[in-house]
Amino acid sequence: MHTKSKRYVSQFSMMGTIISLTLFEQNQDAVESVYDYLAQMDRVFSANRGDSELSRINQQAGVAPVTVSDTAYGLIQDAIHYTRKHADSFNVLMGPLVKLWKIGFGGAQVPPKTEIAKRLTLIHSADVVLNENEHSVYLAQAGMQLDLGAIAKGYFADQISQQLQDQGITSAIIDLGGNVQILGTNPATSDGRWQIGIQDPQQQRGRPRLQVQAPAKTFVTSGIRERHFEINGRTYHHILDPQTGFPVTNDVQQVTIITDNSELAEVLSTVCFFKGCERGLAMVEGRKDVEAIFIDQTNAVHHTSGLTVTNKGVFSYE
Ligand code: ADP
Ligand code: MG
Repeated sequence: MHTKSKRYVSQFSMMGTIISLTLFEQNQDAVESVYDYLAQMDRVFSANRGDSELSRINQQAGVAPVTVSDTAYGLIQDAIHYTRKHADSFNVLMGPLVKLWKIGFGGAQVPPKTEIAKRLTLIHSADVVLNENEHSVYLAQAGMQLDLGAIAKGYFADQISQQLQDQGITSAIIDLGGNVQILGTNPATSDGRWQIGIQDPQQQRGRPRLQVQAPAKTFVTSGIRERHFEINGRTYHHILDPQTGFPVTNDVQQVTIITDNSELAEVLSTVCFFKGCERGLAMVEGRKDVEAIFIDQTNAVHHTSGLTVTNKGVFSYE
């Protein structure tokens, strides 16, 4: 046999999820470096730590600009860029509404409409002042809050992939919980391609609904089932509409974006959630090197034309 099939899987509980790193040769230094990197990023970006750089910016909203590290400035700049581009869907200023709904943090409830309306005035990207020379960030209204929950893991996945390459690693799977980034060729297959399971939204995490065969790509999945609560037969989940302040409601149950850059995939997965299956598919069709798989509210699967279904029922990325 000329293919290698040994796998070394390391898992850490971090950032509210299980992080998993798969290597094909033993490399404890690489595992440690990934762990240390994510621990450091958590100290910079966590919205739940009072002393993170992100929290300092939020605490100084309406008070003063905060000078931050190059790393923090870079990701925030990207996040604001995408927010300006997709103003009515992807919005990293949703913090005041995320905190109000508390979805996924226990004690979730439907907030009073007046409170939602008040907080909708605090999510405008025109009120963000980025100073390139100082690397400072200023949220001009008191009460504004950055929340990078829909983009940060994509950025981390891209960084980790690059760091592993820099260490001479030629094959790896980086799974940041719903966000998978593949590096290099699969040592266990003769053609180097990978087979990745796409989460079944009706099952607990780790149970795939279907499989995709592909070269090294990122697979970013956003779903409404993992973090949600129910009151009076209505379900409320964690992706909030910047136009209404309520969870977005349409025919999408889960969306997976397949492309090279994980940060972009994160943004597109959220944008697709707002477009719905049909318009979401049309948007992705219009982009080169991006594919998507939607699972709608009736559990039906829809996919872009760059994916073909093989005779084994597996999707193939060409
Ligand atoms: P997942 O947590 O499943 O990866 P997303 O990547 O879509 O899901 O990110 C959802 C998180 O992003 C929410 O928990 C919240 O912190 C934040 N968020 C909620 N609504 C939006 C929105 N419209 N745009 C950007 N971020 C959002
Ligand atoms: Mg996401």
